[in-house]
Amino acid sequence: MTATEDRTALVAGAGLVGTLCAAMLASRGWTVTLIEGRTDPRTGTQAERARSINLALSPRGIEALRSVSDELVERVLQEGIEMRGRMLHKKTKARKGKGPEVEKEGQDYGRYEEEGECIRSISRTALGIHLLDHVDGLPKSGRGSVTTLFETRLVEMDLRKDYGVDVVLRTKGEDAETRHFDFVVGGDGAYSKVRQQMMRGSRLRFDYRQFYAPHSYLELSIPAGPGDTYLLEPNYLHIWPRGEFMLIALANQDKSFTLTLFAHHSTFSTLDLQLKSATADAPNPVVELFRQEFPDALEHMGEETLLQSWREHPKDGLVTVECSPYHYEDKVLLIGDAAHAMVPFYGQGMNCGFEDVRVLSSILDHFGASPSPLVPSPLPYSSSSPGLPVPPTTPPTNPVVSSASRNTPLAQALTAYT
Ligand code: FAD
Repeated sequence: MTATEDRTALVAGAGLVGTLCAAMLASRGWTVTLIEGRTDPRTGTQAERARSINLALSPRGIEALRSVSDELVERVLQEGIEMRGRMLHKKTKARKGKGPEVEKEGQDYGRYEEEGECIRSISRTALGIHLLDHVDGLPKSGRGSVTTLFETRLVEMDLRKDYGVDVVLRTKGEDAETRHFDFVVGGDGAYSKVRQQMMRGSRLRFDYRQFYAPHSYLELSIPAGPGDTYLLEPNYLHIWPRGEFMLIALANQDKSFTLTLFAHHSTFSTLDLQLKSATADAPNPVVELFRQEFPDALEHMGEETLLQSWREHPKDGLVTVECSPYHYEDKVLLIGDAAHAMVPFYGQGMNCGFEDVRVLSSILDHFGASPSPLVPSPLPYSSSSPGLPVPPTTPPTNPVVSSASRNTPLAQALTAYT
């Protein structure tokens, strides 16, 4: 590849990570097609997703957003609500004649007063829309462009070509179409089709493992209080730790809170069964659980809202994905949940996926692997990224990148990345 060649990249999945990656690749001169199986979330025709409504965005994620666009990060920061620490809602012994009580304890994450250290609660939808608006502002054709196609799915990939990848795409209501791309990025989430296609055949020696946590999760909410006020302190991540289950709450811009109950899958199914068989005059088992464990949350939420959410919201499982390697020659790369879905308790899935994009961009630059490579940059393992493995400046010999024709700057970059 020379710096003057036009190079095409397909990013599968316009979730948070795929969209950021499309913007990053365009900024490095790639001609990018971004496809998304769902409808455009900005058209408002899509039912609210079952996934979490808000997320904790950490400095790690912000640094990655900034590496793509200062303007983007400023818009995102305006959207976020600072969380300076965790607020623990600890159960205290019930006093005589009273129900269980809760005592709150704020614990700052770091130096908020001095340096403003915090994480931010941000709406998943708003963040996704900012990212899509950003790629919409990029050129629509030629080098450095992003063309976004909604309701278009990647259904198959042929990795046997000498150069690049043949990809079968299907747009809703249309016939499937085969297109050729120099480079394919799988940002298509935990159940990635790109990854599934990489698993076909033994040549790649692709290792893959997925497993479910014993916990599932359910989203609940606390509405805004009287006079449009927050009913809990907005600048904390609220946690009700209760052994094998836990409730958390993050503030939203509209003064409501989104709560997530994590509990063993069997706890949910037992309560569902009890609910079904409960007689009208018996205490409601879900309300009883909240009375005993989360009385303050129940008071703000109200029994009706709790029970409605319990009935109508999904109780979803939590999948972890591990695979190796993340790439195939200089043709395909997995990022975000497609490469490493993790349990949400860390609050790191999206942040880590964003960091994939930042590290990838530095490595592409370092190896001169983009159509318009920037001046070779130092490798991205700075003091701000402690703990990350230090890749060798000469990439290790990877059996996958065996033929001389595949030892391109992009293959070297992806090998160092993986
Ligand atoms: P996804 O968001 O899954 O996006 C993948 C996209 O690809 C989807 O839009 C999908 O429609 C599309 N797609 C799939 N298949 C195809 C195909 N064949 N063709 C085209 N498109 C396709 N992370 C944090 O950092 N902080 C948090 O606080 C946090 N809280 C969480 C709370 C919960 C309850 C959960 C479940 C997760 C949480 N996470 C959090 C994790 C975070 O949500 C994920 O890590 C992140 O959304 C992954 O983004 P992604 O773009 O890689 O994948």
